[in-house]
Amino acid sequence: MEKQSAWVWKNGEFLPFGEAKTHIMCQGLHYGAAIFEGIRLYSTARGSAVFRLEDHINRFFYSGKALGMNIPFSGIEIMDAIAELIRRNNMRDGYIRPIAWYAAETLGVAPRKGARVDVAILAFSWKKKKEEALSVKISPIMRIHPASTDVEAKLAGTYNNSLFALLDAERDGYDDAILLDYRGNVAEASSSNVFAVLGGEMIITPPRGAILPGITRSTVLTILRECDYEVHETGLMTNCFAFAKEIFLCGTALEIMPVAGVNGEPIGDGRIGRVTDVLCKIYRAVVHGEISEHLQWLTFV
Ligand code: PMP
Repeated sequence: MEKQSAWVWKNGEFLPFGEAKTHIMCQGLHYGAAIFEGIRLYSTARGSAVFRLEDHINRFFYSGKALGMNIPFSGIEIMDAIAELIRRNNMRDGYIRPIAWYAAETLGVAPRKGARVDVAILAFSWKKKKEEALSVKISPIMRIHPASTDVEAKLAGTYNNSLFALLDAERDGYDDAILLDYRGNVAEASSSNVFAVLGGEMIITPPRGAILPGITRSTVLTILRECDYEVHETGLMTNCFAFAKEIFLCGTALEIMPVAGVNGEPIGDGRIGRVTDVLCKIYRAVVHGEISEHLQWLTFV
């Protein structure tokens, strides 16, 4: 559960949360012309640390480039602002949301050359509530075609695709949706990546191409390979759900979440499976700085 923090950073200034505003005419609002990140802050024995900060900031700039944005701050300036925001808000465990948007007050869709880009960083304190394994629906909504957008960029507008799928899944009583790509293969869930554990503990996750390649997905791939699991980034067909031993979703906010059932059919015995359980424990230890080999993923603030 999240709770907004007292201070926000906007365009180089620290402001009280309620004073960070934008104009109702801005292009970012009207056309979804915005990019953002979701980043986690975790408490560790050595104080709080941001998890994979540089990777998130690199993706932020990649997303900005995809939308032709000229972000008026450097990566270092944004990382410094995040660290200072965390300190000002006295945070221990939290969620950080950098966002940049086309701020011109115009009805034109295309931003003019040199169009103004505003940048803000919001912070939320965050305690994970105890969650049950998720029930998911294979969505009738197709994951947006990679030729229609830059699927590897985290663009606000693209999230309408997730919203459609979530509205449909929630209407039918499911927690989340798994979207298929244009070939009919599994792409990803509304805001997380998908892994399937098959017989012999072979693990499959959809390859890059039609998914947002999550930073958590990359963390999970590293952990699984270090644990000597056989992992393939390859096409995952929906018929896999009929014989998968375990399915789990992963993302910055969700972390690692077991899936109890797909379209009402249970996965395994409907509870957290062995591989997912091992992975959750290692992930937890990594983000809380308990595994020295992975301290390079933490930025202490
Ligand atoms: N796919 C989608 C569509 C997402 O919104 C997210 C959340 N950012 C992810 C995957 C997982 O990405 P990450 O692990 O970088 O949070």
